[in-house]
Amino acid sequence: MPPIQFVDLKRQYRNLQPEMDAAVLRALGRGDYILGEDTREFEKEYAQFIGAAHCLGVGDGTDALHLALLAAGVGAGDEVIVQANTYIASVLAISLAGATPVLVDCDPETYNLDLAAVERALTPRTKALLPVHLYGQPADLDPLLAIARDRKLAVIEDVAQAHGAKYKGRTVGTFGDVGCFSFYPGKNLGAYGDGGAVVTNSPALAERLSLLRNYGQKVKYVHLVRGFNSRLDTVQAAILRVKLPHLARWNEQRRAAAALYTELLAGTRLVLPKVAPWAEPVWHLYVVQTDDRAGLQAALDAEGIQHGIHYPVPVHLQEAYRDLGHREGSFPVTEAMAPRLLSLPMFPEITEEEVRRVAAVCAAF
Ligand SMILES: *Cc1c(COP(=O)(O)O)cnc(C)c1O
Repeated sequence: MPPIQFVDLKRQYRNLQPEMDAAVLRALGRGDYILGEDTREFEKEYAQFIGAAHCLGVGDGTDALHLALLAAGVGAGDEVIVQANTYIASVLAISLAGATPVLVDCDPETYNLDLAAVERALTPRTKALLPVHLYGQPADLDPLLAIARDRKLAVIEDVAQAHGAKYKGRTVGTFGDVGCFSFYPGKNLGAYGDGGAVVTNSPALAERLSLLRNYGQKVKYVHLVRGFNSRLDTVQAAILRVKLPHLARWNEQRRAAAALYTELLAGTRLVLPKVAPWAEPVWHLYVVQTDDRAGLQAALDAEGIQHGIHYPVPVHLQEAYRDLGHREGSFPVTEAMAPRLLSLPMFPEITEEEVRRVAAVCAAF
C-alpha cells in the first residue's frame, strides 16, 4: 500500500502546474516584485471572496495579527484574551504588539473560546478579544461581539485556519474589526512560501494597516508612523491568484472527506469533531480524540499513514510563556485534551480510497 501523507501539497501543484508556472513567470517578467500588480489584484479578489471592503497583503499570518492589534490601538499595558489551545503564533502576535496575552480555557466540544472563561478573564485593562477559528471551525462569535460592544473592546479574528468558513451564513473574518489570514503553504489557501492578509470593513483601519505594513509610508520616503516591512510578495500573490478560484471547491472536497471520516468512524471509541448548528467549517484539520494516542499512532505508522498533533503542548506550558505564571492545572479542558488529540490526513485532493484506508485503521484499532 502506498503511504498516505498528512498534507500532500505536490498533488495540488501538479493539478495546477501549467497555469501556475505561467502566472509565476508572468510576475517574474513584469519585475514589480514588491506591492506589484498581482498583490493589488489579489487583494481585491480576496476581499471579494471573504466579503470584506478592504484586504491588505502582509508578510505572514503572525504579522497580520500583530499589525491588526497595533492598528486597533492595542499596546503596552493592554490585555488581550485568547485561548490556551491555539497555535502559539496567535499569542506571540499579542506579545509582539507589546500587550499581555490573557489565556483562557476552551470549550470541550468545539475547541474554541469558552465564553464563561472569557467573562471571568475580563479586567479594566482588557483591550481586545482574539478568537481563533481553530481547525477551520468558526468560533461562536455573537456572544463575543456582544461582550466587545458592551466593553468597547476590539475583536481581532484569527482566521489562519478557516479561509471561507461561515458563521450563521456569513464568512468569518468579517465579524470583528480585522480578520487575519495566513497563507502558509499548508493552510486552506496556501502560497509557496510565507504570506498573509488582513481584511476589514473599516476604511480607517485599512488606512492604518496599509501604513503599518509598509514602513509607515503612503508616499515613498514620507513616514507618518513607525511602521514595519511586512508585505505580501508579488510572486506569492500571483500564486494565490491562481489558487483562489479553486478555494471554494477545495473546501467542499475537505467537507466531503470530513463527512466520510465522520460516517466511517461513528460507533468507534474515538471522539469525533462536532459541528455547531450555526457553523460551516472548512476542515483545515480533522481532529479526533483517543484514550490511547501512542497506540493509534503506531497503528497508523505501521500502514504508512501520516498524522499530526495540534497541539501537543498548550501555550501556557511552553517555556516561552513561563512568565505568565501558569502551571499544570491552569486550564483543565485544554490540558485534558492535549495528550488525546490526533489529526488525521486532510487535504482537498485526498481520495475517497485514502480516507477509507485511514478510517479502517482507526476503526480496527
Ligand atoms: C498558521 C497560524 C498562524 C500564523 O500564521 P503564519 O503565516 O505561519 O505566521 C496564526 N494562527 C493560527 C491559528 C495558525 O494556524
